[in-house]
Amino acid sequence: MEQTVKGMSLDRSTDLKKYNLYINGEWVEPAGHEYFPSYNPATGEAWCEVAKGTAEDVDKAVQAAHHAFLHSDWASMTFTERGRLVYRLGELIAENIEELARYESIDNGKLIREMRGQLRYLPEFFYYYAGLADKIHGHTLPIDKQDMFTFTSREPLGVVAAITPWNSPLYLTTLKLAPALTAGNTIVIKPSEMTSASLLELVKLVEKAGFPPGVVNVVTGFGMPAGNTLTAHPLVRKVAFTGGAESARHVVRNTAENFAQLSLELGGKSPNIIFEDADLDNAVMGIIAGIFGASGQSCVAGSRALLHADIYDQVIEKLIDRISRIRIGDPLHDDSEMGPLATPAQLKRVEEFVSLGLAEGGKILYGGKRPEHLQNGWYFEPTIFEYADQTSRLTQEEIFGPVLSVIPFRDEAEAIALANDTEYALAAGIWTSNVAKAHRVAKEVRAGIVWVNTYRSISPMAPIGGSGLSGYGREGGCEAIYEYTQSKTVWINLSQESMPDPFIMR
Ligand code: NDP
Repeated sequence: MEQTVKGMSLDRSTDLKKYNLYINGEWVEPAGHEYFPSYNPATGEAWCEVAKGTAEDVDKAVQAAHHAFLHSDWASMTFTERGRLVYRLGELIAENIEELARYESIDNGKLIREMRGQLRYLPEFFYYYAGLADKIHGHTLPIDKQDMFTFTSREPLGVVAAITPWNSPLYLTTLKLAPALTAGNTIVIKPSEMTSASLLELVKLVEKAGFPPGVVNVVTGFGMPAGNTLTAHPLVRKVAFTGGAESARHVVRNTAENFAQLSLELGGKSPNIIFEDADLDNAVMGIIAGIFGASGQSCVAGSRALLHADIYDQVIEKLIDRISRIRIGDPLHDDSEMGPLATPAQLKRVEEFVSLGLAEGGKILYGGKRPEHLQNGWYFEPTIFEYADQTSRLTQEEIFGPVLSVIPFRDEAEAIALANDTEYALAAGIWTSNVAKAHRVAKEVRAGIVWVNTYRSISPMAPIGGSGLSGYGREGGCEAIYEYTQSKTVWINLSQESMPDPFIMR
């Protein structure tokens, strides 16, 4: 039964919507003819079935992408023409935001209004990269040899493999898809097994925009074997991975097979540092947005609040005042402020971390359990743990849930030392009214993104990415084009003299 996402029956149906793979411009059954259910986190019920891609399906998709890269209309298009297609895709997404947002919300449990907000901004990424399409150029080199004319050009890489997680499926796909296509590559995407639906809906728009078959392919399924086969495939030239460190280690080993270029967007344990001269009301909103927005399931979650001792009690009081009023509930309701976690495994992980935190001697200031009135979905209360230092696992490891650790500091040097004292280095927030201090701390803090008196701001123009356990490479901004192209150096001998005998030394 074909259902429309506008109907409220979508997540209540027993006759589940079924998704196939998208390979070479066609919707195809998986080679093994197997499908698996995708669940609605707000109800715990299956709402659609997704094709279980096999190694054979992955090979078919990569072969199609390889063929499209070398031999299709895509290969012979000008950069300007490719840019127009990317722009058109952005326009089509803009026309379908409500539907796509509902698919995301039903599949990953994030608030419909958050997904709507995120998706409304998505077309801007396509417009931004479309504008860059015919500005990807090399340089003429002032070479130190008189008769040589030497220049560089930037060329697409070939087949890109994109692996994405479940927390912001379309946003995280866009960060790969838009620059990869703009640069002239073809792509095979393996979304998270938990949240494939919105991407499969978006692919219908790729088709409508007029991309030639094989340029964009989607193989749904599990990390093993689909993701694993894809990232090790000999024809893949670049792997763009977003996810956790464990899977990333597999991917790093896989790219040792094909020597594909690799970018890794992994997790974080990001600090929000609140100085005594900060606007405390703003800072408290920043902390809450950083860790309780998306129920903490965000790579840049500000999961550590480092508070100056002088304002410690005040901030805690303001934090508890606001989070005790957070409306937890059905993500499809417009008045809900916090939804469930995306999977039962994620809920279990959060519960285990809370038990661990207590066993380690942490003190719970707020929350710490599932809300009593919401026992069916995978909900968890906003939770605050208080710590005197940062030696516990709760203050060091990524939880990916609504759990905040608060730790006091006494001066700027101690704040920086605490901020840098984890193996992650993705994002950091600094809250102060002192411009010089903001610059000093921004320079010293180990993070790929630093926000001053704001948190979680994003833009197509601004790169994101980290170092250490947070990965490497950057997405977003014009720098991303470099991640999807390679330089070619061309030497032209202008001399009219004959080539010298290479064995006669001059
Ligand atoms: P996972 O690492 O479990 O999965 C990410 C993707 O990798 C999924 O599509 C998964 O497939 C796939 N995968 C798993 N094993 C392999 C393998 N051996 N080879 C290739 N692909 C594989 O992460 P989650 O989905 O649980 O996402 C949460 C993580 O993502 C968190 O650590 C978070 O911090 C990080 N993240 C980072 C962001 C950033 O921009 N830095 C943004 C958002 C999230 P399957 O679904 O079958 O497991």
